[in-house]
Amino acid sequence: MAKRLLIELDEISKSWNNLNIKCSYPYHFKNSGIVSLREWLAFQIVCRKCEDYPCVHACRYDALERVEETGTNVRNDCLCVSCKSCAVACPFGVIYMEILPFLSFHCDLCEGRLKEKDVPICVETSQSAIKYGDFKEEPDKNIFQAGQVLVKVKPWKKELVSKKGEGQ
Ligand code: SF4
Ligand code: SF4
Repeated sequence: MAKRLLIELDEISKSWNNLNIKCSYPYHFKNSGIVSLREWLAFQIVCRKCEDYPCVHACRYDALERVEETGTNVRNDCLCVSCKSCAVACPFGVIYMEILPFLSFHCDLCEGRLKEKDVPICVETSQSAIKYGDFKEEPDKNIFQAGQVLVKVKPWKKELVSKKGEGQ
């Protein structure tokens, strides 16, 4: 089984200010692949996919778009001016301010740069918030496949149910 990244999304969001996760992708010297992964995963998994998408309507630059075919949001980082209005507009706090950088960030999963025993630098510098290995999808442990990565995140629907349960 190919080794894959396992991203502890809740953990990273919670302790982001105490993390200094590095990236080896030479896109540009400030590139942070994990920021682009966090944004993509937020729109894929954490976003409630609101029918009226207030986040998209909050963007004066038409930089945030709802892709009807997939029902997910995509941010055009060439149009985005990083004003954070979409983050403020989201009633569920899905869009973290730090995932809206002015610069474009990319992650290529260290394509062609890792030797046999190598580990991506983001894993080495993430204080275990990102892992690398023969992981597989385990929904009962809140581990889900998203594209070529695995993400550990408490599904918002499960969270809603548990909160409702606590309220009764
Ligand atoms: S941060 Fe970017 S996508 Fe969000 S509202 Fe501002 S310009 Fe639009
Ligand atoms: S407002 Fe928030 S939850 Fe709703 S579509 Fe936008 S990002 Fe997703």
